[in-house]
Amino acid sequence: MAYHLHPSEHVEHHVDKGLFIRSLSEHLKPEAILSDPEDLRPYECDGLSAYRALPWLAVLPDSVEQVRQILRLCHRHRIPVVARGAGTGLSGGALPVENGLLLSLAKFNRILEIDPENRVARVQPGVRNLAISEAVAPLGLYYAPDPSSQIACTIGGNIAENSGGVHCLKYGLTVHNLLEVKVATMDGDLVVVGSRALDSAGYDLLALLTGSEGLLGVIVEATVKLLPIPDTAQVLMASFDAIEQAGAAVASIIGAGLLPAGLELMDRLAIRAAEDFLHAGYPTDAAAIVLCELDGMAEQVETDLAKAEETLSVSGATEVRRSRSEAERKKFWAGRKAAFPAVGRLSPDYYCMDGTIPRRRLAEVLRRIGELSAEFGLAVANVFHAGDGNLHPLILYDANEAGELEKAEAFGGKILELCIEVGGTVTGEHGVGVEKIDQMCLQFGSAELAQFHAVKRAFDPDGLLNPGKAVPTLHRCAEFGRMHVRGSRLPQPELERF
Ligand SMILES: Cc1cc2nc3c(=O)[nH]c(=O)nc-3n(C[C@H](O)[C@H](O)[C@H](O)COP(=O)(O)OP(=O)(O)OC[C@H]3O[C@@H](n4cnc5c(N)ncnc54)[C@H](O)[C@@H]3O)c2cc1C
Repeated sequence: MAYHLHPSEHVEHHVDKGLFIRSLSEHLKPEAILSDPEDLRPYECDGLSAYRALPWLAVLPDSVEQVRQILRLCHRHRIPVVARGAGTGLSGGALPVENGLLLSLAKFNRILEIDPENRVARVQPGVRNLAISEAVAPLGLYYAPDPSSQIACTIGGNIAENSGGVHCLKYGLTVHNLLEVKVATMDGDLVVVGSRALDSAGYDLLALLTGSEGLLGVIVEATVKLLPIPDTAQVLMASFDAIEQAGAAVASIIGAGLLPAGLELMDRLAIRAAEDFLHAGYPTDAAAIVLCELDGMAEQVETDLAKAEETLSVSGATEVRRSRSEAERKKFWAGRKAAFPAVGRLSPDYYCMDGTIPRRRLAEVLRRIGELSAEFGLAVANVFHAGDGNLHPLILYDANEAGELEKAEAFGGKILELCIEVGGTVTGEHGVGVEKIDQMCLQFGSAELAQFHAVKRAFDPDGLLNPGKAVPTLHRCAEFGRMHVRGSRLPQPELERF
């Protein structure tokens, strides 16, 4: 579906494309500037492929100086800029703007420094997530945040989305594993934020930039923390006859004082899809499974495993299996990590939702998602970071069937509203992008949104970086008609400011 910005998000310019390409050519080689529609096609969407837009131009710089010159030119001519890593984002964050420049960081793929004494790595933004762990494994180290897309997604995209993964329950999200970033601002300045020390003076801009979805600056370098590979790790696979029981078991594990390295839940549809795809050894007759990994020193892991096994059994597990070897542990996780593409084989299209709820509401919310699935007549597969309360319902639909995409979107919207209703949030780890921008009007009132806009103006007064993403304009919210949930309906003069 062609995606157009809301009129209140549109940044107007009347720059001649040929003249602008000539200006860009002063800094970039001809092959680093793409203008032919066929060359631009690969950039027309990210992982949320339901929405598409061809950028005005795309550029592939390979030096920080080039990025700065590109931003300076765009700033001078008021041309919107959308940064892009690997394009695996699931909320449309890297979706191009039709009259804007797509800035690919793909050529920034070098690991600049590995410092085992300080357990840090300094990397360019286009380095793949998994490449960091692969590079430092011979030193007995790894980079903990592990999105399921880690084979492809970049560290720049991870920072922009504050990405999570299976191991983030114990080891934290991207923001907790980041020390310093170098950022090019919209006017081409270079800013270093954070430090290699445990703390840095001033406002915590590192936390502000992490998860800012490319709206505040372009990350051109990052220093990340490395952790020692745990002495031992084992995973339990518990089967359940009802998904609500599995949800309640997850809350019980945390309630028992355990802190697993991973605590994931998959429902029947996801189990069967993953098993067909990868033969991970999952029980295809179970209504749900919980995967619970414990890691650390061998003795402690043994004690924790026994406690977790007991908690899972008391919670109603029909079977609890321990991985018997490292190969089996990896196999159990491989099934989970491949669950999205596996579910993708069940239906022409799927829509991956992402919201977070308090863990103790898991059972109830999973039941209500099942009811919504019946109401909308669309199947849903649940496979998610249950320990974090981070839901990923995958709604199956067929975009070629008239009205099915709209139905899937409406179903997804209801799930996000449900997350808010039970005290959760509309974001888990995939960001807001364009996908959840309307639901931001439900999550926040006008006062909070005004503060978000004030932060944006401090970094990017002309609103050129990734317009129409992550933070809705108040005009959009007024049109969506739901701002009154927490804020008040705004009078017209106040609306004019945004
Ligand atoms: C199969 C599959 C599984 C996934 N599993 C997970 C998961 O487990 N956990 C998770 O968190 N996510 C997951 N994702 C989502 C996605 O992989 C992450 O959001 C990832 O961080 C995006 O990285 P990317 O390099 O592809 O970024 P892109 O998609 O290219 O961009 C994402 C956002 O970051 C911005 N951006 C990119 N680079 C920069 C930069 N250098 N400076 C400033 N802004 C930048 C873009 O403008 C955009 O807003 C999954 C996706 C897929 C397809």
